[in-house]
Amino acid sequence: MAGRGQGRADSRCPACGQPLLTQWVGDVAALKARVTLPPPEAHLPYPQALQDRTDNDLVWCLPRLPHRALRLRWTGNRHPPNCPHQHLTSHKCPTQKLF
Ligand SMILES: [Zn+2]
Ligand SMILES: [Zn+2]
Repeated sequence: MAGRGQGRADSRCPACGQPLLTQWVGDVAALKARVTLPPPEAHLPYPQALQDRTDNDLVWCLPRLPHRALRLRWTGNRHPPNCPHQHLTSHKCPTQKLF
Protein backbone atom coordinates (compact mmCIF):
# COMPACT_ATOMS: atom_id res chain seq x y z
CA MET A 1 0.00 0.00 0.00
CA ALA A 2 1.38 3.34 -0.95
CA GLY A 3 1.85 5.50 2.09
CA ARG A 4 0.35 8.91 2.11
CA GLY A 5 2.83 11.48 0.98
CA GLN A 6 5.43 8.90 0.09
CA GLY A 7 8.48 10.72 -1.17
CA ARG A 8 6.47 13.82 -1.80
CA ALA A 9 5.63 17.05 -0.13
CA ASP A 10 2.40 16.96 1.83
CA SER A 11 1.62 20.60 1.37
CA ARG A 12 2.80 23.84 -0.05
CA CYS A 13 3.54 27.11 1.60
CA PRO A 14 0.55 29.31 0.80
CA ALA A 15 2.82 32.33 0.66
CA CYS A 16 5.79 31.26 -1.46
CA GLY A 17 4.55 27.97 -2.94
CA GLN A 18 7.55 25.89 -1.94
CA PRO A 19 6.81 22.25 -1.14
CA LEU A 20 6.61 21.59 2.56
CA LEU A 21 6.78 18.59 4.79
CA THR A 22 4.90 19.10 8.03
CA GLN A 23 4.77 16.50 10.74
CA TRP A 24 4.88 15.89 14.46
CA VAL A 25 8.24 14.52 15.48
CA GLY A 26 9.08 12.80 18.74
CA ASP A 27 7.28 10.27 20.88
CA VAL A 28 7.18 12.01 24.22
CA ALA A 29 7.25 15.71 23.53
CA ALA A 30 6.27 15.95 19.92
CA LEU A 31 7.26 19.06 18.11
CA LYS A 32 5.71 20.24 14.94
CA ALA A 33 8.28 20.41 12.21
CA ARG A 34 7.71 22.40 9.06
CA VAL A 35 10.51 22.18 6.57
CA THR A 36 11.02 22.98 2.95
CA LEU A 37 11.17 19.66 1.17
CA PRO A 38 14.35 19.50 -0.90
CA PRO A 39 14.72 17.48 -4.10
CA PRO A 40 15.75 13.89 -3.33
CA GLU A 41 19.18 14.36 -4.86
CA ALA A 42 20.05 17.46 -2.85
CA HIS A 43 23.14 17.05 -0.71
CA LEU A 44 22.40 18.54 2.70
CA PRO A 45 25.06 17.54 5.20
CA TYR A 46 24.49 17.93 8.92
CA PRO A 47 27.27 20.48 9.61
CA GLN A 48 25.84 22.74 6.92
CA ALA A 49 22.38 22.64 8.46
CA LEU A 50 23.86 23.47 11.84
CA GLN A 51 25.37 26.60 10.37
CA ASP A 52 22.17 27.63 8.64
CA ARG A 53 19.87 27.29 11.57
CA THR A 54 18.90 30.12 13.83
CA ASP A 55 19.13 29.99 17.62
CA ASN A 56 15.65 28.68 18.20
CA ASP A 57 15.72 26.33 15.29
CA LEU A 58 16.26 22.62 15.27
CA VAL A 59 17.93 20.52 12.65
CA TRP A 60 15.97 17.59 11.33
CA CYS A 61 17.37 14.49 9.71
CA LEU A 62 15.42 13.15 6.76
CA PRO A 63 16.31 9.64 5.64
CA ARG A 64 15.16 8.75 2.15
CA LEU A 65 14.31 5.11 2.46
CA PRO A 66 12.88 3.25 -0.49
CA HIS A 67 9.21 2.35 -0.15
CA ARG A 68 8.85 4.30 3.06
CA ALA A 69 6.99 7.48 3.76
CA LEU A 70 9.13 10.48 4.55
CA ARG A 71 9.79 10.68 8.25
CA LEU A 72 11.69 13.46 9.92
CA ARG A 73 13.91 12.57 12.84
CA TRP A 74 15.36 14.53 15.70
CA THR A 75 19.01 15.33 15.69
CA GLY A 76 20.95 15.94 18.85
CA ASN A 77 24.47 16.43 20.04
CA ARG A 78 25.38 12.93 19.11
CA HIS A 79 24.18 13.12 15.56
CA PRO A 80 27.04 11.90 13.37
CA PRO A 81 28.49 14.76 11.27
CA ASN A 82 28.91 12.41 8.35
CA CYS A 83 25.32 11.17 8.44
CA PRO A 84 24.37 10.54 4.80
CA HIS A 85 20.79 11.77 5.07
CA GLN A 86 19.38 15.17 4.26
CA HIS A 87 19.36 17.74 7.04
CA LEU A 88 16.79 20.45 7.21
CA THR A 89 15.89 23.47 9.24
CA SER A 90 12.48 25.06 9.50
CA HIS A 91 10.92 26.52 6.41
CA LYS A 92 12.06 30.08 6.13
CA CYS A 93 9.56 31.76 3.96
CA PRO A 94 11.22 34.14 1.52
CA THR A 95 8.02 36.18 1.45
CA GLN A 96 8.41 37.01 5.12
CA LYS A 97 11.14 39.21 6.44
CA LEU A 98 11.47 38.61 10.14
CA PHE A 99 14.18 41.09 10.91
ZN1 LIG B 1 21.25 12.66 9.80
ZN1 LIG C 1 6.95 30.07 2.32
